[in-house]
Amino acid sequence: MNFHVMTLFPDMIREAMNTSIIKRAMEAGKIGLNAVDIRDYTANKHNRVDDYTYGGGAGMLMQAQPVYDCYKAITKDMTDDIPVIYVSPQGRVFDQKMAFEYSKKEDIIILCGHYEGIDERVLEEIVTDTVSIGDYVLTGGELPALVMMDAIARLVPGVLSNDESYMTESFSDGLLEYPQYTRPEEWMGKNVPPVLLSGHHVNIEKWRHEQSLIRTKERRPDLYEKYINAEKEQK
Ligand code: SAM
Repeated sequence: MNFHVMTLFPDMIREAMNTSIIKRAMEAGKIGLNAVDIRDYTANKHNRVDDYTYGGGAGMLMQAQPVYDCYKAITKDMTDDIPVIYVSPQGRVFDQKMAFEYSKKEDIIILCGHYEGIDERVLEEIVTDTVSIGDYVLTGGELPALVMMDAIARLVPGVLSNDESYMTESFSDGLLEYPQYTRPEEWMGKNVPPVLLSGHHVNIEKWRHEQSLIRTKERRPDLYEKYINAEKEQK
């Protein structure tokens, strides 16, 4: 799958993606990254991409023209309708289910805002989905874009060495993941729960499920309630 990122800081995107698992996935051709500098498309002779907001108020706003021309350049050879995600604190909050849906796409465009945001008219023209990474305000859309790309990319088949590993992770079944341990068996007087050393797979699965329930109830009562209600409905 290919990520096309419209940004004023393409190096930030390229550098962060050029690490560890995502780097390997890009080298293996599983993930493509096209970080495009919106500034390259400005018609302003001083290379400006922002201006004051009509009606007054603090801060500058990204102008419609460079954003639109950048979008047109990215999509000029594309035939399919592809998602254009504007990362914004005003969007639907990103979650694992959304990551999974996006991981099935061949191409995704992510638009990163800066300053006070982007002229509404170009958003109306090109954006299909507005997505937030949480209820707080960042200086720009690059970190949200990176968060989303990381979460999406690792769900693309073949990106993780063991495709199973995300199946048991937090959120994939509506619960948080159970606690995990590695060697040594005893550390600082704390022992690995004996059931994990038993080799009894049924008991291990049972223990893990119970731990997931306990952990979710404690840490995310909202998710726990949803899970229990869904189970009741199923029954
Ligand atoms: N004035 C905007 C508002 O109140 O909704 C906030 C603009 S913010 C300072 C600049 C840019 O950062 C936004 O256009 C968006 O792309 C990005 N951004 C900031 N917080 C974000 C969040 N929680 N999720 C996704 N993107 C965010």
